[in-house]
Amino acid sequence: MTASFVTNASSCPLTDLFGRRITYLRLSATDRCDLRCVYCMAENMTFLPRRDLLTLEEMDRLASAFVARGVSKIRITGGEPLVRKDILTLFEALSRHLTRGALKELTLTTNGTLLAKYAEALARAGVRRVNVSLDTLDATRFREITRRGSLGVVMDGLQAAQDAGLAVKLNAVALKGVTEDEIHDLIAFAHGRGMDLTLIETMPLGDVGADRTDQYLPLTDLRRLIETRWTLTDIRERTGGPARYVRVAETGGRIGFITPMSHSFCETCNRVRVSATGVLYTCLGQEDKIDLRPALRGFESDQALHTAIDAAIKAKPRGHDFRIDRRGTPTLARHMSALGG
Ligand code: SAM
Ligand code: SF4
Repeated sequence: MTASFVTNASSCPLTDLFGRRITYLRLSATDRCDLRCVYCMAENMTFLPRRDLLTLEEMDRLASAFVARGVSKIRITGGEPLVRKDILTLFEALSRHLTRGALKELTLTTNGTLLAKYAEALARAGVRRVNVSLDTLDATRFREITRRGSLGVVMDGLQAAQDAGLAVKLNAVALKGVTEDEIHDLIAFAHGRGMDLTLIETMPLGDVGADRTDQYLPLTDLRRLIETRWTLTDIRERTGGPARYVRVAETGGRIGFITPMSHSFCETCNRVRVSATGVLYTCLGQEDKIDLRPALRGFESDQALHTAIDAAIKAKPRGHDFRIDRRGTPTLARHMSALGG
């Protein structure tokens, strides 16, 4: 056999059976969090034993294997990624792929509580944009939703991120009885500070000690409400993700709508997720997964890792099937904090 017939798995792009190229990795740095948002976690959570988590060095190796296969965007998430001890070392290590041009974007999703501490260092490591979750501008309500957080701390974090030159996108989960009151202020706040705002329908992931049907606010209803005050124009182009965007005439800013419950965006899915324990999930809304730890820990070379990644990508499901059953309980037991959205 001549060399030209030999395929080298460790350099082949990742393409699934439906022809979708996988170019985006979302990596959870930890399942822990300093908040307990009512739609995400139960009040009393049992977190994974620390020994079960990948080390930051293992996360670097794993993420780098994906970069070798054509992944050009990495988002670090959680739990709350910034509560992981020494998390900066992971960003600093991965930034070498930005420097050599293999990675186009290194970013994170955060609740913002530790941004004041980390924003500058993240910017130095090559992070250019950050998604910050913020559902309310009311301090009392913020504490109720997060069960323990302080709005002022997040506001300081947002300021620090912008002072460090990071572009900020706000993520707000649409919550019945909350977002209806808040939406106009959230739009004015975000766009007044040059931030995009993305609205997310609640997804039924994990038991949070509350009835999901009480929380669910369809974005079609919210959009109708937004249009009573603001003029929206659909923006045709997609950013490769699940959000559909509109432009607000009065502010010039953008609003994204992520509607997993009422609209399927799976045909263009370009992403996979890895939990903090090294389990690769090929769909947020399905149980399909493969544990990459044995391949990572059992072999010095990355060949076994690439073989395992290939097997998982070949089995990536066509799409998700979120449902809230009639009793309001979720159809997937895993919490959002296990994978970070
Ligand atoms: N702790 C970070 C944060 O809050 O941004 C990162 C992890 S958090 C799980 C990622 C995103 O998922 C947040 O924007 C959060 O609002 C969203 N989220 C959490 N639970 C959700 C649910 N059940 N349905 C929809 N979005 C959810
Ligand atoms: Fe923590 Fe983020 Fe979940 Fe809120 S949404 S509990 S901040 S992981």
